[in-house]
Amino acid sequence: MNGLGAHNQSISMKAIGKFILLDAPEFDAWLDAQPVKRKITLIQHHHTYIPAYKHFNGGNHFSLCQGMERSHRERGFAEIAQNLTTFPDGKIMVCRNLNTIPAGIKGANSNGLCIENIGNFDRTKDSMSTRQQECIVHITRSLLRRFKLTASEQAVVYHHWYDLNTGKRIVKEGTGATKTCPGTAFFGGNTVEAFKTGLLPLLKT
Ligand SMILES: [Zn+2]
Repeated sequence: MNGLGAHNQSISMKAIGKFILLDAPEFDAWLDAQPVKRKITLIQHHHTYIPAYKHFNGGNHFSLCQGMERSHRERGFAEIAQNLTTFPDGKIMVCRNLNTIPAGIKGANSNGLCIENIGNFDRTKDSMSTRQQECIVHITRSLLRRFKLTASEQAVVYHHWYDLNTGKRIVKEGTGATKTCPGTAFFGGNTVEAFKTGLLPLLKT
């Protein structure tokens, strides 16, 4: 793909500063090599909303992440909020070090790992590509395995399930102050029930 020769497959891995762009198999090799010193019990899924699919041109993975970092800094964060970002082409960007607590979900960050999925997955907005679906399933499974977690609504969580003010899990769908994130059409919906019929079965097969 990059014309640098087939003798070194890892050459397709690209990095600019802390940002590392990987495909799914490279992600697994990278993940296995990471010394992770904090306890991770929650894998958070988000959508970026903006940037959306129309902002992705197939080659601007780094500039999109640099742009998100700029806007997160403007909001007072030390750096880009999420640990990982997925793209419509199925690539993964390592963003915030896994050993650094993310700024993903109020009340769920200290043992959390934050994944931002590029797109607006609210109903009638971006229709998630097959490559991104496969990528999200793949890395979620890899992270569950790496951190010895069982696929469930306790280990894999959506931003929508948390009250933005209290930082607590909402007890009953439709109550509390919530965002739609990761989108009302994310793997069929953003509720716990939708997770159980949409994404969860894909994490178990
Ligand atoms: Zn979110």
